[in-house]
Amino acid sequence: MLIAHPCDVRYLTGFTGSNAALILPNSSELRKGARAPRSVKPVLFTDGRYIQQAKQETKHAGVIIAQGPVLREACAWMVIHGMRRCAFDGEHTTVATLDMLRRWIPGKQRRSFFQAVPALVAGLRERKDAEEITRLRAAAQLGCALFEDLLTRIESGKREVEVAAHLEFAARTAGAEGMSFETIVASGARSALPHGHATGQRLPRRGFVVLDFGVMFQGYCSDMTRTVHLGRATMAERDAYFAVLEAQMAAIAAVKPGVSCGEVDEAARGVLRRAKLADFFTHSTGHGVGLEIHEGPRIAARQLQQLEPGMVITIEPGVYLPGRFGVRIEDMVLVTRSEPEILTPATKAWIEL
Ligand code: ZN
Ligand code: ZN
Repeated sequence: MLIAHPCDVRYLTGFTGSNAALILPNSSELRKGARAPRSVKPVLFTDGRYIQQAKQETKHAGVIIAQGPVLREACAWMVIHGMRRCAFDGEHTTVATLDMLRRWIPGKQRRSFFQAVPALVAGLRERKDAEEITRLRAAAQLGCALFEDLLTRIESGKREVEVAAHLEFAARTAGAEGMSFETIVASGARSALPHGHATGQRLPRRGFVVLDFGVMFQGYCSDMTRTVHLGRATMAERDAYFAVLEAQMAAIAAVKPGVSCGEVDEAARGVLRRAKLADFFTHSTGHGVGLEIHEGPRIAARQLQQLEPGMVITIEPGVYLPGRFGVRIEDMVLVTRSEPEILTPATKAWIEL
């Protein structure tokens, strides 16, 4: 199997470089009489920028520094070692890359050599081990600390980008490697944009501010959303906030091993339906989070996949009333054998600044 998606390579070997191809050989695939590799140990190909780093970081694989494109060298290695076919991750391989890979396999084998398989490593990555949970917990805790500090910086007249810049500066200063996605600061009518990246708009005297952000810490992503209000709120705004909060808590309460992702989504959606707000909840309830900000499982309507202990997911219902306002509340939640553990315990109480 050929693995080139950097997060998958990192997950399997520890190597954090941006350019790598990992081959996981299967001895039974070797052609009889072919010059077999001394062992069936995985081989990692990377380029000259990573000579030292690859040696320091890589576990469970031999390292070969490629002179040309890593994928070309990986193909040459497979041909030399008599491999007859190779599985690749169809979800992260472009048509152009597959075309290139095929050109590097000689002769008749070319057509049938590469076979797409479902994202096997992505499946493994859904259940986090103890070390990963420790890192995710630390990332989430850093996010919470940043939010508390940020509350003292939010005031009408300040621009959204200033709020985001303060948050990001504080994150880096506190040890984050970076943000896990582009920070969302969406204020006033812009709060009705589910992905309202921070702009030059000034925070209003009255209205919501949706803050959705995450940090990268030791390779792992955090993700949380809080919605605060500037000035006095209307009844409609308060009602929407508490409906979203109730929906969010209902979905968290539904998180248990064996429960389907669709059932968790429905727990949130049902609350908003009763509040006559379900039409304004226009996205899914959550997603897995780990080395990447969005990974499996998908917490969405009709998803039959069942939750398992060790999964870390977000629960983030929201409602968005176009031209008026929006509210979203998001936590990271660890699925355990018993009660779910909220990794982002920052306050969700109504906050009026
Ligand atoms: Zn988020
Ligand atoms: Zn999220």
